[in-house]
Amino acid sequence: MHLNQFINGKWVPSTTNQTREIINPFNQEIIAEASEGNREDAKLAIAAARKAFDDGVWSSTPATERGAVVRTIGELIVRDKEELAKLETLDTGKTIEESRADMDDIAQVFFYFAGLADKDGGEIIESPLPHSTSKVVREPVGVCGQITPWNYPLLQAAWKLAPALASGNTLILKPSEITPLTSVKVFELMEEAGVPKGVANLVLGAGSEVGAELAENTDVDLISFTGGIETGKTIMQAASINVKKVALELGGKNPNIVFADANFEVAIDQALNAVFFHAGQVCSAGSRLLIEESIHDEFVEALVNRAKEIKLGNGFDANTQSGPLISAEHREKVAQYVAIGKNEGATLTLGGKQPDDAELQQGFFFLPTIFTNCTEEMRIVQEEVFGPVLTIETFSTKEEAIAKANNTIYGLAGAVFTQDIDKGEEVANKLRMGTVWINDFHPYFAQAPWGGYKQSGFGRELGKIGFEEYTEVKHIFRNTKPEAVNWFN
Ligand code: NAD
Repeated sequence: MHLNQFINGKWVPSTTNQTREIINPFNQEIIAEASEGNREDAKLAIAAARKAFDDGVWSSTPATERGAVVRTIGELIVRDKEELAKLETLDTGKTIEESRADMDDIAQVFFYFAGLADKDGGEIIESPLPHSTSKVVREPVGVCGQITPWNYPLLQAAWKLAPALASGNTLILKPSEITPLTSVKVFELMEEAGVPKGVANLVLGAGSEVGAELAENTDVDLISFTGGIETGKTIMQAASINVKKVALELGGKNPNIVFADANFEVAIDQALNAVFFHAGQVCSAGSRLLIEESIHDEFVEALVNRAKEIKLGNGFDANTQSGPLISAEHREKVAQYVAIGKNEGATLTLGGKQPDDAELQQGFFFLPTIFTNCTEEMRIVQEEVFGPVLTIETFSTKEEAIAKANNTIYGLAGAVFTQDIDKGEEVANKLRMGTVWINDFHPYFAQAPWGGYKQSGFGRELGKIGFEEYTEVKHIFRNTKPEAVNWFN
């Protein structure tokens, strides 16, 4: 499979003709050769997006028609769901069942934003001045640079593409250089759906080249980034060159608080799912478990027994419950965190290494790992590992649980399990996080906003606010009886 870039309505190799091998993390086979773009390719794409925006080809298309095109993209995703799901599993190693669920969510994201395209016709406001009218309208921001990570390649791209297109912007997407397969395919679908030339551009390649150009280039009006905190800081600095609008969806170290009065079986099951889903490579992974002291031993025993049974394997195998990590480099990072946890004095209760099974040796697998006896100042508790590593702490009062959960630089998501709904609501209100689940973990959907407090970033994706991020607000004032003001007489 050879993957090209999509610039100004044409499928093109990189200007240098360089390519990058794309690896299946399950067995290290080469699954594709992708064009490796650089700053020059990014500049060509930015120029195309700038021209398309300035010509008004898309922003002046009636919003209802734009919405129809965005809806068609969603329909084409439904049509090609199986192919897209297979590409996602090949590229990331996640289970095919999970990839199929991702594709369903992605189609819904396009449908949702398609529906919003023509819903905001502006607002008439009461002018306090005589003989005047005032209205507030929303307009597209302009040229949007969009940079996405490898853990949910198409899902993260969809959260950016759909609202940007629905609100009339032009864009350049740079997917993670190691997982470009589904992004390429969705650009084929966008072409088929009738997105005009130059409106949506795809550049493949490294963050330090393509991503950096998008963040720095003064013809880009908005940069929307999902990825790690350090990259986010670099992008924010680069974006200051022309004061572009910035939206950052960064990492998390998300607490999962389990009270003694929680439904025990549900809380165990959800705690497993919270941290080990997609091998923990989820920004909102519940990797920091806080258990009420009185049920700690019983809870840990049940959790360890369940975690031991998680079936690692080929994402295409129906029995597989979890795939590999994304790369050898990432597995090394996770292993280093395990070493850090041990050195800090946490007790390694499960896993902590690669599996021994012969058939898993070719892939980047890592065993579900549980640390007990953790304390809140430990690095293993505070830093995002982004792998199947759970830390367990205890608490004995509600106040202590809230204080510990909030003791983090992050603020992406958190959860609380209790059958006392007033207590659940109180904790949810006091957690400083963009999403809090009560008696559940992980639900997100197109209608609800997603994003972080604190160093998990700013700006929101999804929901009405995720659409508004891609708009500028303009006040238009009209004097209906113009006359000289005579101030300088
Ligand atoms: P990363 O920061 O290494 O890379 C993300 C993207 O940024 C990639 O496309 C990469 O090429 C690009 N990039 C790298 N350096 C760049 C630079 N200097 N300038 C511009 N772009 C650059 O992150 P990753 O390892 O791909 O993804 C994992 C991270 O993403 C985790 O921290 C995770 O929590 C976060 N994430 C957050 C959310 C969320 O919604 N908050 C969702 C998914 C992932």
